[in-house]
Amino acid sequence: MKIAFILAGFFLLLLLLEALFPLRHRTWALVRRLLVNLCVSALAFAAAAWIVRPIGLSLAAWMSAKSFGLLHIVPLPAVVQFGLAFLLMDLTFYYWHLANHMLPVLWRFHNVHHIDPDLDVSTALRFHVGEVLFSAGFRILQVGLIGLPPLTYMIYEGVFQASTLFQHSNIRLPLQVERLLNRVLVTPLGIKLTRSGYDNRLFMYHRDIPSM
Ligand SMILES: [Zn+2]
Repeated sequence: MKIAFILAGFFLLLLLLEALFPLRHRTWALVRRLLVNLCVSALAFAAAAWIVRPIGLSLAAWMSAKSFGLLHIVPLPAVVQFGLAFLLMDLTFYYWHLANHMLPVLWRFHNVHHIDPDLDVSTALRFHVGEVLFSAGFRILQVGLIGLPPLTYMIYEGVFQASTLFQHSNIRLPLQVERLLNRVLVTPLGIKLTRSGYDNRLFMYHRDIPSM
């Protein structure tokens, strides 16, 4: 629950920075955008909090207790296991996002996110509940194969959500900061350039993967 409060605070901070240093002009007024995107995302929020997260956490706890999954094949130092788990979650999620663009049945739900007339921090919340329910199935596969420990799962979720808010935000960063961050992260300007694509991974560790 603490993570939810931290993320809500981060959302408000980004909202403030968008007002001070906007990257793009909005076509809709902010209040209208917030109302529409919060209404669209209400069911998705509920499904993520009450279905996807509990399933992911329960499975992670069970996998860890039984030492099942890729991470448990070879004994690894905790810090190496954590880093590997994090990168595997991010990489596999990238392919899930790719599938959301390539498979018509998934795209039917995922396009709700991409047809937002503007791009700002509220776009990061704009998901169809159908997409979130499909992602519960993917999460089972992902956590099950990787054998993710519950604590790593919680940290990954928090970092992933914070990064999604930041990437979609409409903030003009100083160019030098953009250049620096862009070496390792997808930035607000970077995601703008790939808006019609699917480049929302946390890290830029495989630049050769096709994006539109
Ligand atoms: Zn997408």
